[in-house]
Amino acid sequence: MGAEALSAALLAIDEQIVTDAVAGLAAVAGLLRQAMAMGDEGLVMRARLQHARLSMRIGEITGVAREVSDILQWAAQHGERQLEARAHMLFANIHELSGDAARKLEHALSAVELLDETATAPQQIAARTRLGDALAATSAMDSAGLQYQQAEELARKAQRWDLLTNGVLNNWAYYAYICGDIAQAREVAGQMMTAADRHGVELAPSGLHTIGEIQAANGEYAEAEQTTLACIARHDAGHINHADDLAYYRLTLARARRGLGDLVQAQQHLDACRELCAELDLHELLAQVHGEQAELHAACGDHHAAFTQLKAFIAARDNLSSREREAQAQARQAMFETTEARQQAEQFREQARRDPLTGLHNRRYADEELPALITSDPGLTLAIADIDHFKRINDTLSHDAGDQVLIQVAKILDTELAAEVPHGFTARLGGEEFLLVLPATALAAATAVLNRIRHAVSAYDWHDTAGGLPVTISIGAGATSETTPSGQTATLASADRNLYAAKHQGRNRVVTGTPRDKLPRAYRDRDIT
Ligand code: GH3
Ligand code: MG
Ligand code: MG
Repeated sequence: MGAEALSAALLAIDEQIVTDAVAGLAAVAGLLRQAMAMGDEGLVMRARLQHARLSMRIGEITGVAREVSDILQWAAQHGERQLEARAHMLFANIHELSGDAARKLEHALSAVELLDETATAPQQIAARTRLGDALAATSAMDSAGLQYQQAEELARKAQRWDLLTNGVLNNWAYYAYICGDIAQAREVAGQMMTAADRHGVELAPSGLHTIGEIQAANGEYAEAEQTTLACIARHDAGHINHADDLAYYRLTLARARRGLGDLVQAQQHLDACRELCAELDLHELLAQVHGEQAELHAACGDHHAAFTQLKAFIAARDNLSSREREAQAQARQAMFETTEARQQAEQFREQARRDPLTGLHNRRYADEELPALITSDPGLTLAIADIDHFKRINDTLSHDAGDQVLIQVAKILDTELAAEVPHGFTARLGGEEFLLVLPATALAAATAVLNRIRHAVSAYDWHDTAGGLPVTISIGAGATSETTPSGQTATLASADRNLYAAKHQGRNRVVTGTPRDKLPRAYRDRDIT
């Protein structure tokens, strides 16, 4: 398979409603291997995302948050907006599992914001639907409805009837039901059935289950049972949506049977559901099982047992929220660790561009920053400052004292420059030599600034640091406007020439505009690049 075919295969999986997660996962694993063999990082990332998505579907969620977090970061760094949007949608799912509605909404919003006109209709539909789900999870059912409506329109326009029925309308009906708006839920479920009928779409088990639940909630127990049985038949035929589907279907069957007055069979369904809960570790559903058991006891007239069961239900709910909190903490930790790693990498990068002694930027930083400044700023002035007779300080006092003087001079240069030239910067070029960068400052104005800086150094009270020895600096400056060619090398050469002249003329001064031929031969032959 070539890169194009692989990309198309990944897109097809992305745009489908998952009906068989196990088979889907096997297919994605194959695509991932191919992408890796091809060495195409973009395809690898997209395959990894689908892999994470389907792993979640079959209940394997360990490490998924970290995986999605990695993908999100990669996508953001590489400007892959659609992949980034997709990763945000998966994060919304992760936060749904951990019961964190606020974060779910945050990610669902980011996903919608990231999609532009280059996104495909299915991507837009999926993102809007997910945003609808997220809004519904915060009980903002009205706003959710608006999102679902937009998703519905997009799906109808694109004639994606599978996405319309099993995707948009299913989620809309389900969340309306969860939010307690049974009338709305019924209406949307009705539209789902009509559309599926009209366009020959086979409703997925999850869609059927939504309808069954709504029917049961509406007191249509016989219909609820029929729908749920049809849903189980489809599930048994291999249409597995989520790993724990069957347990949920059993609970609906129990409710329907209780409604129909068949308490014995209701109890059997409920027991089967409870067993599945234990087997699959389904805590949320188990809480619901306790609730249904309480109802069932009450229907049997056993109010004492109903009361005990109610207490179990409440305990299970409490247990659930502490589990949710733990899951939330884990998801946040994964996010935090990736952010942390990124910040650390940035810190290393930053450190490599700083001089450890003075904390100023270093030559590497200057070399990286200057080219862009030189091309974009015709009024740039560069200056080199060098401490006068620095060797004397080292020799008379100590190397340590020399270091302290370097640190203090650096501090003065940096703060004085920052005060006068907001976008300028100072860098230590090495030894006791510093670069001063003055953007948008013509040579005359720069000379005035540099003279003030020079004065700030000589006026500083050096008694404690340099034991009474004077500390002064000489500065040579050059402007891009006065040098031909106006490049970095020529401007720095001009600054260096002027520094040399400043030393020659007696130090502690700022010099500009020294012509090359005014310098001694020894200087002219120096290699200043
Ligand atoms: P001039 O006025 O002509 O610039 O004389 P100078 O003594 O400042 O110049 P020179 O280049 O002869 O001496 C610079 C000295 O700076 C030599 C070197 O040992 C010292 N030096 C370089 N880096 C450091 C440092 O990090 N710490 C200390 N303490 N001294 C340093
Ligand atoms: Mg010096
Ligand atoms: Mg020097």
